[in-house]
Amino acid sequence: MSISQENKNKLKSLLGEERVFFKDETQMDQATFLSFGTDRTKVYVPDYEILTFPKNTQEVSEVVKFAFENDIKIVPSGGRTGYAGGAVAKSGEIVISLSKMDQVLDFDPFFGSLTVQAGMITKNLHKEAEERGFYFPVDFAATGSSHIGGNIATNAGGVRVVHYGLIRQWVLGLKVVTGTGEILEFNGEILKNNTGYDLKHLFIGSEGTLGIITECTLKLTKKPADNRILFTAVPDFSSILELFKETHNMPLPILAFEFLTKYCLDKVMDHLHVPDPFSEVSPYYVLMEFEITEESDDEKLFSFLETILEKGYVSDGSLAQNSRQAETFWKYREGISESISIDYTVHKNDISLPLRNMNPFLEDMQALLSSKYPGFEIALFGHIGDGNLHLNIVKPKDLSDAEFFSQCKKVDPSMFELLQKHHGSISAEHGIGLLKKDFLHFSRSSAEIEVMRMIKKALDPKNLLNPGKILP
Ligand SMILES: Cc1cc2nc3c(=O)[nH]c(=O)nc-3n(C[C@H](O)[C@H](O)[C@H](O)COP(=O)(O)OP(=O)(O)OC[C@H]3O[C@@H](n4cnc5c(N)ncnc54)[C@H](O)[C@@H]3O)c2cc1C
Repeated sequence: MSISQENKNKLKSLLGEERVFFKDETQMDQATFLSFGTDRTKVYVPDYEILTFPKNTQEVSEVVKFAFENDIKIVPSGGRTGYAGGAVAKSGEIVISLSKMDQVLDFDPFFGSLTVQAGMITKNLHKEAEERGFYFPVDFAATGSSHIGGNIATNAGGVRVVHYGLIRQWVLGLKVVTGTGEILEFNGEILKNNTGYDLKHLFIGSEGTLGIITECTLKLTKKPADNRILFTAVPDFSSILELFKETHNMPLPILAFEFLTKYCLDKVMDHLHVPDPFSEVSPYYVLMEFEITEESDDEKLFSFLETILEKGYVSDGSLAQNSRQAETFWKYREGISESISIDYTVHKNDISLPLRNMNPFLEDMQALLSSKYPGFEIALFGHIGDGNLHLNIVKPKDLSDAEFFSQCKKVDPSMFELLQKHHGSISAEHGIGLLKKDFLHFSRSSAEIEVMRMIKKALDPKNLLNPGKILP
């Protein structure tokens, strides 16, 4: 697709020369230009025409109206840390990057809420909340790069969902630009508003297919007074589930319940050059974070550790002695994605199941892999307290990338059938994007998919917003 000089001038006049770039005349180097049209999937090759950096909602609306008039497809681009190909632009689109929209717009100290532009980096939002004496609880290994708008567009989870829930629970209000360029504002800053359909929820998790989120009002909470990390070695998978059940008897709130296998621990030790935190080898490890409010809470933790050792749910356990050690313990969990993605080729799956069906699912999955794909190893870890597994298939050394991904494509439907059998979901928190759209029917009925199409048509009649994502 070639863009006429008249249209180039029009866009330049809307945003200014320094905030619009064209593939065929960009001053930006090609790699940087293309990096705004991709994410962490590494499966797709970006190829698009125009890159824009609006600074406010009105400018986003103007760019969308321009795209609408000229039938140009649009890809909203956040922090590009997604794992589903949602931010990939590979068909001559216009990319709208939110990265210049990172301002605080308002703070309400009464409700404890913060209104920001959607391109604010999530970690910066954490800081802004803390500076005002509050806490924003959605956190995970990519929040140093991800945008709050991208988090909302993917309904992000993270490491403390077990206590705080997904980001959906923290969104009070949204401002969005639909596929026609219309600006819609939902709910604003109020807590209670039972006035018909709560439309903002449609946009949370819609991966840029219904509208571009430009501003959001987020509910904040109180920072935990203090916390303690308990890192444990677990002898078998069923004990992980028993251990989680046991935490329900704990008098202290549990903030995180994460697990990893020995395979993952080894990869992190290799990649980050950190020592083995346990003296004995164990097949599984669980990291728990508890909130504590008083000194005597430490005794409750030691007594919990004694109980779980006695019951045989854990074979070893260590309580972080200070914040530095707590940080180090977190590294063994948070360093996994990076360690396996940088040093290996992996096929990622982010799935969820009812906790009680985890064991039978994993047994079926193991049987499937060892019968059909004996050379494949799995890096298994995740937010197990939420029933969320990150199941990563690691490429055997002697297989080419192309052959590996083609074999994985054959494994996926069999795995999704197993998930369906055990009442699970094909995407827990990463979304559908391009990567899983052909498999949506494993988690959604055809009637549901039809309703999704109707909603999309109402908000994006020309199918310009992230077309080809989510819906098959
Ligand atoms: C190391 C690592 C760890 C991770 N851990 C987790 C985890 O624990 N939990 C979790 O949920 N995810 C996790 N992720 C995945 C990813 O970080 C999240 O999906 C994140 O919310 C994506 O935000 P982003 O700004 O990077 O979005 P992008 O990747 O830029 O985009 C994601 C999707 O949202 C759309 N989009 C982006 N911004 C907007 C906007 N303003 N309006 C409308 N649509 C928009 C894009 O078009 C795309 O479809 C992890 C990723 C990495 C690399």
